[in-house]
Amino acid sequence: MPTTTWDIELKDLWGGYNNTKILKGINGSLPAGKISVILGGSGCGKSTLLRHILGLNRPMEGSIHIGGHDFFAVDSKQFRKIRRRMGVLFQDGALLGSLTLGENVGLPLAEHTKLPQETIRKIVLHKLGLVGLADYIDYYPNELSGGMRKRAGLARAIVMDPQILLCDEPTSGLDPINAAEMDQLLLSMKEHFPAMSIVVVSHDLESLYNIADNVLVINQGQAAYCGNLEGLKSSEETYLKQLLGRQPNSVKQPTIDLGADVQAELSKWLEK
Ligand code: ADP
Repeated sequence: MPTTTWDIELKDLWGGYNNTKILKGINGSLPAGKISVILGGSGCGKSTLLRHILGLNRPMEGSIHIGGHDFFAVDSKQFRKIRRRMGVLFQDGALLGSLTLGENVGLPLAEHTKLPQETIRKIVLHKLGLVGLADYIDYYPNELSGGMRKRAGLARAIVMDPQILLCDEPTSGLDPINAAEMDQLLLSMKEHFPAMSIVVVSHDLESLYNIADNVLVINQGQAAYCGNLEGLKSSEETYLKQLLGRQPNSVKQPTIDLGADVQAELSKWLEK
């Protein structure tokens, strides 16, 4: 496929489940060579958007262009080819408990290539080295900590040298030290694979500030912001300020008068 860069362009993207529309005309771009963070409140449709970019859900309207190709308009062979260039880090690492770390990480290579076992092991060892787990190649997932399992999930996501790396909440469930380590790993991925589009779904603000070049904020099914991190930080838009924790939610609380007699009765009891 004559694709030189792997920018992802969302063009008036509508999508959801059955008849329920969750994404309501999203426009935005997730450029190659950058880390783009998809940010938004819980349930706003971040994972749904990820499923569309992965090709698991078809848009109801609009399109997703990947490297200039309309992802859902190409023929099935090209579609599979684009899919094969995507790596995914699922929330829990999604490792198979009955396989060693090496077997887990090598699984995509065993499934999609006819490379000899020996070569696969060398590639796996190299990828595990990138996430600091080369010494654990023969361990089983239950012998590792949660943070290590996530890192192993990252090694598996990059084992086929993807052009697009999609990460679903990579820091969720991690303590601050492991979360900061994951941020560092994602930054090192950008350095190691400079042409890759890295897309991270997150609601972790600290992680956002650590890793994001580009941010797509979803609110009420639409892109409330798409651009660089600096622009988001300095935005005066109320929702964006609330999202970054710079302004509380202005929920009006009704005032209910207690009444002097009730207050007096309560005071009597408190003084007893
Ligand atoms: P987020 O990742 O931002 O927390 P999701 O994309 O998971 O949000 O969910 C957005 C909305 O879509 C929610 O209202 C959720 O209940 C709904 N939803 C998610 N997955 C499905 C599904 N498989 N079928 C039907 N509705 C779903």
